[in-house]
Amino acid sequence: MKKLFPKKQRPNKKLLLAGAGHAHIGLLRRLARKRLDTLQEVEVSVITEHPQTIYSGMLPGWMASHYKRSEISIDIAALCRRAGVTLIQRPIIAVDADTQTVITVKNAKDAKDERFDYELLSLNTGADTDMTWLNTDGLVNEDLIDKDLADKNLKNTVIPVRPIFNFVEQWQQILKQAEQVSDYKVAVVGAGAAATELVMAAQFALQQINPSHQAYLVCGEQLLSGFDAGFRSRVIKQLQRRNIEIIYERAKGLAGGKLATSKQTLAADATIAATGVMGSAWAAQTNLETVDKGFIAVNDKQQSTSHDNVFAVGDVASRVDREMAHSGVHAVFGGKVEADNLLAYLVGDKLKSYRPKNRTLYLLACGDKYAIGSWGNFSAQGCWIWYLKRYIDKRFVNAK
Ligand SMILES: Cc1cc2nc3c(=O)[nH]c(=O)nc-3n(C[C@H](O)[C@H](O)[C@H](O)COP(=O)(O)OP(=O)(O)OC[C@H]3O[C@@H](n4cnc5c(N)ncnc54)[C@H](O)[C@@H]3O)c2cc1C
Repeated sequence: MKKLFPKKQRPNKKLLLAGAGHAHIGLLRRLARKRLDTLQEVEVSVITEHPQTIYSGMLPGWMASHYKRSEISIDIAALCRRAGVTLIQRPIIAVDADTQTVITVKNAKDAKDERFDYELLSLNTGADTDMTWLNTDGLVNEDLIDKDLADKNLKNTVIPVRPIFNFVEQWQQILKQAEQVSDYKVAVVGAGAAATELVMAAQFALQQINPSHQAYLVCGEQLLSGFDAGFRSRVIKQLQRRNIEIIYERAKGLAGGKLATSKQTLAADATIAATGVMGSAWAAQTNLETVDKGFIAVNDKQQSTSHDNVFAVGDVASRVDREMAHSGVHAVFGGKVEADNLLAYLVGDKLKSYRPKNRTLYLLACGDKYAIGSWGNFSAQGCWIWYLKRYIDKRFVNAK
């Protein structure tokens, strides 16, 4: 591993927190409660695109109208003020780790870049939806992903669930369109827990507008692979109970309001993709070591394998020493260890390893106020699980 700074020479002046994901929210809350001695001489800044972070765990509940948008948002600007940290509201477009610079633009339409230097960088910018499955003759993938919110023609675009900020805007467009017609169809593409939650939330919301509206799931060969069989079977039963068709075929592309799978074309007024994650766009513009689909390569200390004054945690990173799913749970628990390591690095102390627990609690909302829970091989379902999920989610969003 390249050693940029021998222990004695380690500078300790500028700590830059890139992105306001789960881990940085945890660190900012810690700073808001108590200013840490280690950071007395350190200028701490956060660079993030939006002044709020939308909590993904409550997104399906918001789609189903159980929550207002303000209830699922964490106010990063207010948190930075409480923590005594500077907020730089900009999208990051590149990171030059050799010159220790983060490159941003004022907004997506402004070509002029602005650079921020650092001595120590922490990356927690999440990931993008993996859209590599989208492959249509004569059309470039880019044409099918609606990045421009002015384009209201949802029929010919695939809406990725990430970035969540854009998705939230586009879900509102979907509801508006569904209010104007009968028989509106939403396809959700994906096979993980997020896709199943989204399709059940979509079905619930659409049927409140008109019972003939339909959401359906296109999931490839297997749904919820990696989950316990009992949990999977509970989820499939709930999808069936809600009349959600599960199509075990691979989606390939979209044209003229038709979603093409490996075997057929399906009508879709709107198509949502929750097809796993890939590295964010800025990660294609960095000299940090990356792995797989553009994730920042980190060791067990959540430290970059190429530049030891850079740490990364949550969906933006991939561990090189072990398999670890990209999930909010690891962003939160890995984030606590990563924050300790940032502080330890500043004073030259020993860094800790993040060792994830073997079992994690997963609570999957079913659209209405009903949920399924899984803990290792144990699973259960009911309204009480939805209320338990609500309690845990609200506690995270509202924590001080
Ligand atoms: C519908 C849904 C439900 C889910 N439910 C669960 C669940 O119940 N449990 C679970 O463990 N996981 C769940 N997940 C997965 C979970 O959302 C992610 O793993 C988690 O959000 C990753 O957290 P993070 O801290 O890495 O990044 P994020 O929470 O994605 O935060 C990234 C932050 O960086 C900012 N940012 C991004 N790009 C830039 C940029 N270029 N410049 C500046 N700022 C930027 C964003 O605005 C945001 O503030 C769910 C996902 C979805 C889609």
